[in-house]
Amino acid sequence: MSSAPTPTDATIPDDADAAPAFADLGLRAELLGALSALGYEEPTPIQREAIPPLLAGRDLLGQAATGTGKTAAFALPLLQRMPDERTGGDPTSLVLVPTRELAVQVSEAFHRYGKDLGTRVLPIYGGQPIGRQLRALDLGVDVVVATPGRALDHIARGTLRLGSLATVVLDEADEMLDMGFAEDIEAILEHAPAERQTVLFSATMPTRIDGLARQHLTDPVRIQIEREQPVAGEAPRVRQSAYIVARAHKPAALGRVLDVESPTAAIVFCRSREEVDRLTETMNGRGYRAEALHGGMSQEQRDRVMGRLRSGTADLLVATDVAARGLDVEQLSHVVNYDVPSAPESYVHRIGRVGRAGREGVAITLAEPREHRMLKTIERVTGQRITVDKIPTVADLRTRRLELTQAALRESLLEDDLEPFRAIVESLTDEFDMMEVALAAVRLAHEATLPGTADEEEEIPQVTVRPPREQRGYEGRERRPAGRPRPGGTTQVFIGLGRRAGVRPQDLVGAITGETQVSGRDIGSIEIADRFSLVEVPYAVADEVIRGLRGSTIKGRKATVRRDRDGDGRDRR
Ligand code: AMP
Repeated sequence: MSSAPTPTDATIPDDADAAPAFADLGLRAELLGALSALGYEEPTPIQREAIPPLLAGRDLLGQAATGTGKTAAFALPLLQRMPDERTGGDPTSLVLVPTRELAVQVSEAFHRYGKDLGTRVLPIYGGQPIGRQLRALDLGVDVVVATPGRALDHIARGTLRLGSLATVVLDEADEMLDMGFAEDIEAILEHAPAERQTVLFSATMPTRIDGLARQHLTDPVRIQIEREQPVAGEAPRVRQSAYIVARAHKPAALGRVLDVESPTAAIVFCRSREEVDRLTETMNGRGYRAEALHGGMSQEQRDRVMGRLRSGTADLLVATDVAARGLDVEQLSHVVNYDVPSAPESYVHRIGRVGRAGREGVAITLAEPREHRMLKTIERVTGQRITVDKIPTVADLRTRRLELTQAALRESLLEDDLEPFRAIVESLTDEFDMMEVALAAVRLAHEATLPGTADEEEEIPQVTVRPPREQRGYEGRERRPAGRPRPGGTTQVFIGLGRRAGVRPQDLVGAITGETQVSGRDIGSIEIADRFSLVEVPYAVADEVIRGLRGSTIKGRKATVRRDRDGDGRDRR
């Protein structure tokens, strides 16, 4: 990885010299190689701030949400500090996370970054057969990424030994407390050596997190990614909107949104080179004239790309931040964040490329459901509203295309010389009605404008996201009486086991996140009665939750699971 990005086009990069590269942070060659292979071009702000103190062995308290690059911020230093000579098979790092989904994700990140170091990583979570985990623990692992409940199970069995731990990470600590894991976390930390390094990341910093940090962290470095305040009055005239969309549907969602917006020229920002290349290919397949721009390209290649954009031969530029630094394109009408930027500053920087010279620009952000919080942070820091819109439906797209065809025909009627076609119309009207002739001509004109895409007629699932807890006066998990109608597109799932079976909220959350793709954040209120429990989940995933729970056990027992019948209690006794 080069130490400073090469300038793009003939322009001077604004702050290329100010931003340190991964190599400047003191990371070893094996890690730099892995990052370069992944196409990461530069560290995100949280990585810049967290990596040096973590490498120095400091404790750290970081406020950062998903999407900031926080996983690499703690994983890279942990991997670097891993002893070369491993004496025993016991782990030297333990990462506690709230959900199965995150355990898998964080383990994969460790794998990717540590592939040249031969680091052995094991995710352990409820819902996975314990035998496989026992065998892996027995063979020896370096990093364990675990949900607190299952970690404690293994500690009690003596299969997870914490005596060799050098570092403990509490990731998404607020989420873990919300899920009722406070006692489990305390119990786990009691088993860890006192002189360990402790790292705590949390999206919010309520007093309970402060308390946890005071008790378990020693003189921590504090990091917050949302400090920078933009200067008032500098804000460009930009219409800002966001779409919440699952990762798998992002390429289709981008195509759909661009089809409806029909930008003059747009730049789409991605996080890595890899993504730039992949997305460029996808968008070309959808009929766009897309060009890739990233730090791995030669100056000559970049100049060619910029030339094509300026001359209008290309209409879409897919770029990383580094490659687009200092880039100034007059014609740009739209900036698209294919991922939520890793810090509010970066968002402001990106969207500053449109809305110049008094023209209105458009900024569009695609956010995964988990990144919704980061979007809120950006809104708060910039003081500007980002409207969350629904992804255009197939019907919206059809309407929009018809409008575009109509506009094109109007223009042609007003401006073009249509005489050469008169003979055709006259000859056809001998045989057909004038209206029919016009209809056929419109149809041909309309069809000629359609981009050649295969998946354009498929609906893209809409995702509804609950507002972050600070906006709904959230104080831990709520318990509400059953059966009241819920706002915001959620429904309740009835589970025929309750307090008498020893069911706790974390058992239900663990079972749901363990058996489905649903994340802990999507689960609403939980009510536990003596003989049954009610869990609030988004409508869209209710069937998945029911299927998942039916196929699993809770506290070792099979339970009746179904949609709640509106709370009259008649089935519950
Ligand atoms: P996280 O906030 O840890 O969930 O990371 C969000 C996403 O950003 C993940 O998909 C990472 O692979 C990616 N990512 C993290 N750091 C970088 C970086 N420096 N450059 C590009 N992508 C990154």
